[in-house]
Amino acid sequence: MTSYNSFHVTQRQVLEAARLLHLDAATIDLLLWPQREFSFTIPVRMDDGTTKIFHGYRMQYNTARGPAKGGIRFHPEETADTIRALASWMTWKTAVADLPLGGGKGGVVCEPKSMSQRELESLSRGYIRAVAEYIGVDKDVPAPDVYTNPQTMAWMMDEYETITHRHQPGVLTDKPLQIGGTEGRRSATARGGVIAVREACRALGVDPRSRVAIQGFGNAGQRAALLHQELLGGGKIVAVSDSRGAVYSAKGLNAKNLVTHKLTTGSVTGFPESEPIRQDDLLELDVDILYPAALENAISEVNAERIKARIICELANGPTTPEADLILHRRGIHVIPDILASAGGVTVSYFEMVQDRYSYFWAESLVHERLDAQLTRASHSVQQAMQEKGTHPRLAAMVVGVARVAEACKLRGWV
Ligand code: NAD
Repeated sequence: MTSYNSFHVTQRQVLEAARLLHLDAATIDLLLWPQREFSFTIPVRMDDGTTKIFHGYRMQYNTARGPAKGGIRFHPEETADTIRALASWMTWKTAVADLPLGGGKGGVVCEPKSMSQRELESLSRGYIRAVAEYIGVDKDVPAPDVYTNPQTMAWMMDEYETITHRHQPGVLTDKPLQIGGTEGRRSATARGGVIAVREACRALGVDPRSRVAIQGFGNAGQRAALLHQELLGGGKIVAVSDSRGAVYSAKGLNAKNLVTHKLTTGSVTGFPESEPIRQDDLLELDVDILYPAALENAISEVNAERIKARIICELANGPTTPEADLILHRRGIHVIPDILASAGGVTVSYFEMVQDRYSYFWAESLVHERLDAQLTRASHSVQQAMQEKGTHPRLAAMVVGVARVAEACKLRGWV
């Protein structure tokens, strides 16, 4: 399978959208690159008494529409280009969801699984000391991402408030509820994806209560299973998979029992009244709706010709390779792209920023209601761009995002 530099992939996507929008050369040049990049070292005293130097990054891709927004990843394979790519995608994602935010991303090259809690806390606090000057409620608002979580955010917020000598919980989102977090965050990504599926089904005349398969049964996959049935009035979940295996039932799997089984046994495998199948075969099942909620590049030129789903909802980041995208488009399969399908997470993070700002917190039902309204509008904008530009959903979503950011840059007089 082809290997990718994800930043080059994002640049090609920006160029394609810019061409459809007939943007001028200066605007294109501006949108092809991060506005600001920070790279730094973070010394951490390890438990064995030695000091280790970690390499960290924070990239603010574009802030024309508002403060940069995006997660911080702790990952051994992080590079400047993976962070540039993710910061770029965050820019188009916040714009597609029509949030008053820009895009950013950060990361530290490290092996979090082999570090103690104390070492992770030192690294998190060191990260904030390195970027404190450049982040803030009106500048850049980080969040958790791969191998960071609400506890990481709590340490980071505390370090930031210690440096600045004032309470500013909105400097980071996805914090624990007790210290400025919001209701509804954990289910937000999956909820947004299910809303996008509902709107796609309406537009395409697909019955959402038909057959569903879910690749990956972590936070996003489990919530998608429950919410698909809850919000769309049913739906037969015929197969799910995780890193250990996949299970299938033609009659449909009980989502609640499956979540309990996964939480108690650590895997979906061995679920009663199901039969084991190969993980790769799940993607090629005869289903109506497929949620990839696990890995990057799960759908590639290797399997795209055999995919039978009518709608693919990309809860994972980048589950479809560029080659596969073209094949799926040619075959008439509707791919709800990640920058729309997983925009529910950042939308509720934005709601958290709003609540932190006025220090008054919403009921969970209000968070759900406002998320639904925001993502329904976003889905309609993308559908409209598909029709106007005669293109597929991924490019249409990029067209919506790039057009909104380009307009903000122009209004500010940047280009
Ligand atoms: P998670 O770690 O909770 O779950 C990932 C799941 O994928 C696990 O069940 C794991 O067992 C499974 N998996 C790993 N390898 C697999 C394989 N080969 N086949 C099948 N399943 C496999 O992560 P998550 O929070 O659910 O996120 C999943 C995806 O959604 C990621 O790409 C993430 O970047 C994206 N995403 C998540 C959020 C969020 O708010 N959680 C927001 C935006 C995007």
